[in-house]
Amino acid sequence: MHDLLIIGGGPAGVAAGTYAARKLLKTVLIAEEIGGQSSVSEGIENWIGTPKIRGIDLAKSFRTHLDAVKGEHVTLALGERVTALTKTGDGFTATTDKHEYTARAVLIASGAGRRKLGVPGADKFENKGVTYCASCDGPLFSGADVIVVGGGNAGFETAAQLLAYAKSVTLIHRHKEFKADAVTVEKVSAHPNMRVITHTEPLEVLGENFVTGMSYTDKDTGEVKTLNATGIFVEAGVIPNTAFAEGLVTFDDFKRITVDPRNQRTSVEGVWAAGDCTDELYHQNNIAAGDGVKALEDIYLWIKKQ
Ligand SMILES: Cc1cc2nc3c(=O)[nH]c(=O)nc-3n(C[C@H](O)[C@H](O)[C@H](O)COP(=O)(O)OP(=O)(O)OC[C@H]3O[C@@H](n4cnc5c(N)ncnc54)[C@H](O)[C@@H]3O)c2cc1C
Repeated sequence: MHDLLIIGGGPAGVAAGTYAARKLLKTVLIAEEIGGQSSVSEGIENWIGTPKIRGIDLAKSFRTHLDAVKGEHVTLALGERVTALTKTGDGFTATTDKHEYTARAVLIASGAGRRKLGVPGADKFENKGVTYCASCDGPLFSGADVIVVGGGNAGFETAAQLLAYAKSVTLIHRHKEFKADAVTVEKVSAHPNMRVITHTEPLEVLGENFVTGMSYTDKDTGEVKTLNATGIFVEAGVIPNTAFAEGLVTFDDFKRITVDPRNQRTSVEGVWAAGDCTDELYHQNNIAAGDGVKALEDIYLWIKKQ
């Protein structure tokens, strides 16, 4: 039996794997791939200590770091997908599409996927104007007309961030009422460069090589309308990769794993979680890595006490 299973190879899992190696814990890090969600990003400008790095290069540096420190203690099980995580005997068993792994402790760092904008053109123009991360890509749209899709708090907070750089921000929302807090809606909507359109159905992302706009149906009149913009920021929610842990640990209403933010412990002794798969409020690489480190410090002390 191993000391620890780490599920995930994004910043949370890799940070934890690095610390596990330094603490000589017998660990298996299971991940479909090393790098995580921002691997697809053209330029990450807020990874502390690195002014700008392509997502693919950040993923490579994660792998290089793991290879440099893993030694005999940390094994990488890459290209494997965990399908079930269960309590067995004195520990836990993770079942993947290829193998079974057992350990006394588990760190779930399986991240999340953004809910995509499911209209024609959205996939084609992803990273060519369609983006899912305002703090990452917002500055690229300085002086531009941009659209935010989504009327929850994330949509309005994204709009507020973009108003600092963009020429204009148009937020479009499916319903007549917003999910976002009234105070936030009022404050953001009051900005002179902000426009809000409710009761819409997005139809298509328009463009040649890059985004030039978006069409939508005005649900009050049935009319098809077009907005001109070079950036479309989608805030339609995130889907955590937690299905394999359902029934083992407690989730919040969005199927994110609830954790104690002091130490990343879940509702089950011996299971920790870190990064975007948890009910952590903010989703960033640095935060995920920090959560992974925090979990590892606590896991180490817990294992030594067993
Ligand atoms: C397009 C985009 C750009 C972004 N740009 C930035 C940026 O510039 N700066 C910033 O700070 N943040 C950025 N973010 C947010 C940032 O990427 C996330 O907050 C961060 O990646 C979360 O890290 P994580 O380790 O929790 O999970 P993830 O990065 O989601 O990694 C999850 C890992 O778990 C693995 N995995 C998932 N399910 C399973 C399973 N069942 N079995 C095995 N392995 C599994 C995956 O393969 C992956 O290795 C961006 C996000 C997106 C979508």
